[in-house]
Amino acid sequence: MNCKELAYMLADYCNGSMDPRLREELDDHLSRCEPCMAFTKTFRATCEGTRKLREAIEYAIPAEVRERLGTFVRAAALKYPEKMREYRDQIERDRREKVADLVSAATAGKLSSASALLMESHCAACPECSGYFDALRSTGTPPAGDPPAGIRSHLIALMQALPPGEEFFLA
Ligand SMILES: [Zn+2]
Ligand SMILES: [Zn+2]
Repeated sequence: MNCKELAYMLADYCNGSMDPRLREELDDHLSRCEPCMAFTKTFRATCEGTRKLREAIEYAIPAEVRERLGTFVRAAALKYPEKMREYRDQIERDRREKVADLVSAATAGKLSSASALLMESHCAACPECSGYFDALRSTGTPPAGDPPAGIRSHLIALMQALPPGEEFFLA
């Protein structure tokens, strides 16, 4: 369970879309666990803010809470494996979406300066990615569907190299 999975779970909890059985268990845990309760309150307040804030707070889940919620989740996963799998799937969808955003921002020349720099130095060393983006720029439109798996994993690594909370493209 990483921070993103925990954040999805807490978002579900805060916006009321959590499975009632799981919610009951989490309520029970929170009522007995001060650090998790305190963090969940902060999280709830932040969820009402912008998506950017919400993303920033994922990186701010305190180690203790991560540990404690992680233990809770491992126990819950034994009882509700399908619910926990949903959080995993959500991350996968989120990644696909971000890769697609990155590809279109790069094609349109709208990368933030930090990501443009990362991208440039990566492409200088990676014929696979530089070939892909050269082809994109010459046609001007990203192709439908996901980029090839190799390129996809490079782009995910690039995004993860950005400082927490930093947007990779210009608004
Ligand atoms: Zn706890
Ligand atoms: Zn590459």
